[in-house]
Amino acid sequence: MGQITITINGCQLGGRDGMTILDVAQENGIDIPTLCYRPELSIVGACRLCVVEVEGSRTLVGSCHTPITQGMVIHTHSPKVLQTRKVIVELLLASHCGSCFMCDKANICELRSIAADLEVGLPRFQVRKRYYPIEDVNPFIQRDLTKCILCQKCVRACQELQGTYAIDYAYRGFKTKPATPLDKPLVESPCVFCGLCVSMCPTGALSDKWARYKGKETRKVRTICPFCGCGCSIYLSVREQQIISVSTCTEDSVNGVCLCVKGSYGLDFVHHQDRLKTPLIRRDGNLEEATWSEALDIVADRLSRYQPDEVAVVSSAKCTNEENYVIQKFARAVLGTNNVDHCARLCHAPTVVGLAQTFGSGAMTNSINEIRDAKCILAIGTNTTEAHPIIGLEIKKAVRQGAKLIVANPRKIELVRFADLWLRHNPGTDVALLMGMMRVIVDEELLDSSFIAKRCENFDAFKQSLQGFNLDSVEQITGVPKEQIAEAAQIYATSRPSSILYAMGITQHSHGTDNVIAIANLAMLTGNIGKPGAGVNPLRGHNNVQGACDMGALPNVYPGYQAVADPAIRERFEVAWRCSLPVEPGLTLTEILDAAYHGQIKAIYFMGENPVLSEPQAKHAEAALQKLEFLVVQDVFLTETARLAHVVLPGVTFAEKDGTFTNTERRVQRVRKAIEPIGNSQPDWWITCQIAQRMGRGNGFDFAHPSQSMDEIARLTPSYGGISYRRLEEGSLQWPCPDAEHPGTPILYTEQFARSNGKGQFIPLQYRPPMELPDTKYPLLLTTERSLYHFHTGTLTRKVKGLNALREEELVEINPNDALALGIADGDMVRVISRRGEVVAKAKVTEVSPVGVICMTFHFAESPTNVLTNPALDPVSKIPELKVCAVKVERAEQTSIS
Ligand code: SF4
Repeated sequence: MGQITITINGCQLGGRDGMTILDVAQENGIDIPTLCYRPELSIVGACRLCVVEVEGSRTLVGSCHTPITQGMVIHTHSPKVLQTRKVIVELLLASHCGSCFMCDKANICELRSIAADLEVGLPRFQVRKRYYPIEDVNPFIQRDLTKCILCQKCVRACQELQGTYAIDYAYRGFKTKPATPLDKPLVESPCVFCGLCVSMCPTGALSDKWARYKGKETRKVRTICPFCGCGCSIYLSVREQQIISVSTCTEDSVNGVCLCVKGSYGLDFVHHQDRLKTPLIRRDGNLEEATWSEALDIVADRLSRYQPDEVAVVSSAKCTNEENYVIQKFARAVLGTNNVDHCARLCHAPTVVGLAQTFGSGAMTNSINEIRDAKCILAIGTNTTEAHPIIGLEIKKAVRQGAKLIVANPRKIELVRFADLWLRHNPGTDVALLMGMMRVIVDEELLDSSFIAKRCENFDAFKQSLQGFNLDSVEQITGVPKEQIAEAAQIYATSRPSSILYAMGITQHSHGTDNVIAIANLAMLTGNIGKPGAGVNPLRGHNNVQGACDMGALPNVYPGYQAVADPAIRERFEVAWRCSLPVEPGLTLTEILDAAYHGQIKAIYFMGENPVLSEPQAKHAEAALQKLEFLVVQDVFLTETARLAHVVLPGVTFAEKDGTFTNTERRVQRVRKAIEPIGNSQPDWWITCQIAQRMGRGNGFDFAHPSQSMDEIARLTPSYGGISYRRLEEGSLQWPCPDAEHPGTPILYTEQFARSNGKGQFIPLQYRPPMELPDTKYPLLLTTERSLYHFHTGTLTRKVKGLNALREEELVEINPNDALALGIADGDMVRVISRRGEVVAKAKVTEVSPVGVICMTFHFAESPTNVLTNPALDPVSKIPELKVCAVKVERAEQTSIS
């Protein structure tokens, strides 16, 4: 980039090609006021406040859009400039309402602040106001467009960063204003309530309703959003012990200025009245309040009575790394069992297993901010804009920059609008679809032969297995025309780098591991591994599901995926933990519940899990828990599972503790305590350590702070070897980070794979259909997904009034043809029946669902979808087939004949 020298206010300054005057001024700390400029947005030059004087120019120029040229001499605060800015501000104030006393943003209003800096008092011009009624009919955002100064930030943010296009300018001249299509309220528009427009609005035209009249914060605490695996950085604004608002944190963050609705407005649950505030003990059938010492004594006493193979521990992908580390250590070192697992079993167990077999390690190979650099994105089995909204924005950004997007999804999800090609394959036919694509790539010689020869093994056997996938048979299995399969293969193989994103549409199948292996095969076949913008990218669901796996909250591995069955590794942990450890791998989550049902497991300690709603065939899980002799549940609310417990221990939320989360791209980030624990609740790590100490393991569980646990993790976990709280204060780190000097690893496998010989392994595959397909008795297929407005079993998000207002109940999405055939109208209550149970919910008739397929979420305890789902397991990863099962649907007033 060429160096350009300019002079601003008498100082010689260096700039680079493409920089504007404003860029150079800001880089050098020279203040030029702006109202419409944001570095993240396109430049419109709407407010004109940034005018400067350039010697030799007849007029003042807008500094935000004027590129620098060699030798330019600029004055940013000359009398002419200041006078012009004053007039601009006076004109803005003349049409602005003067209700600053009533405006919640008065103290942070940029217009008011600039007016004060320019010493502008009452405007000299005749006052002509535009008055609009205040729009207050949605749960989160108040629009008072009387205060709008037409800076266009909200419109550009919605279109350029969110890609939602919920608002644009409407009307002409003096009546111009930002408006939704047909000028309807936001709640009737495509708005997704991400809050970005509010955060960018320089005046009180847009404001957050939940933060209104709560005063000014006394401190801001940087931490991480507690919902999905994107791991967005946020600031919690705190006044006394109350979180009063949330804002984005742009430095060292995956999300920049963006958040989704849950991150912006979904944190009310922290202060919800139903928070568990004291331990509960079941006495005479009722849960009654108890002291910590009573509750901990009972738990320690009861857990000590069981043999190692009679107890199990279920950890939590919502809790911190340190808490997961402590509880899996407790299971192994104190209870003497490897029966420890968590909800990754229900989401990405096939990723851990499938990518370990092919690459040597199961995690996202690339980073979130590389998605924008991909030339092709294959989004398969992921409804990214609903389940991983910030990654959804990255995909939209890549498309705006010219990337080809291939969406493979049975449902017409939002991303389809942005796709070059939509493969609407039949649910559960991913292996056939991917193998069909690979057959085309091999037949048309679009493969990367040198990558395969140099970096991979077992290609010939894999190639042979492609013979079973000619395009005619693939078309028949998948329902996708063979021309589309060939086109997808050609786009993916020839647009380098190509990135694959996938989520639970791939993993939650009885052949989930095969699906993951097929994806890994496809990436290796085209050499799309180990390069920026490429890779295999499993999108992890929970905030810390990656970390919970990394920490060894799994029955077969210690932290860092070190096998419990390996004697040398086991000995290392025995020395470190000063105890002998169990030899055999333990039971998985689904097996634990099965064993409980059959009386082999007698006691379970749950930390932050709610299997009564999340397990397949949920009634079976509930029955299993009811058979236990002793059930301990540690959570922040009295969940459906906690209601069955003998002892309930109140944990704290993310806002009340220190720790770390590891997001989906392996980024370890600091979670910081913003407020004191609510009531008598305690951090989960503290609770587990207290139980361990009461069971005679004082040393080994005497951590005074999570930073000490992280030091122990680093000593025992090679991929976390260089991670410490001291380093994390300077910025997040992506594992592997093996030593204190290592900068972390944004891209995996640049030189070699993580398998022992460094090679990637192709694995031959065959197509296996889902275990349960529609038949005459159950003629429809049920698939499940997430709503943008809720999370997992709804334990947290259902406590947020505004999120409930935007999505208040379960919806059975059904194609109009199926609805017509069944006599079901939009809004009818319907009964959905599978071989395992039935639920009642409201029908939503929509083309989003293909013919023959209905779709539900599992966020709503009132309509527990997992009562219906199939517990059939993938034999390798032991994930249940939550994504596909056969059902029938009838209007709710009809009598069930199941
Ligand atoms: Fe939180 Fe995920 Fe939304 Fe980011 S995208 S704000 S991490 S829920």
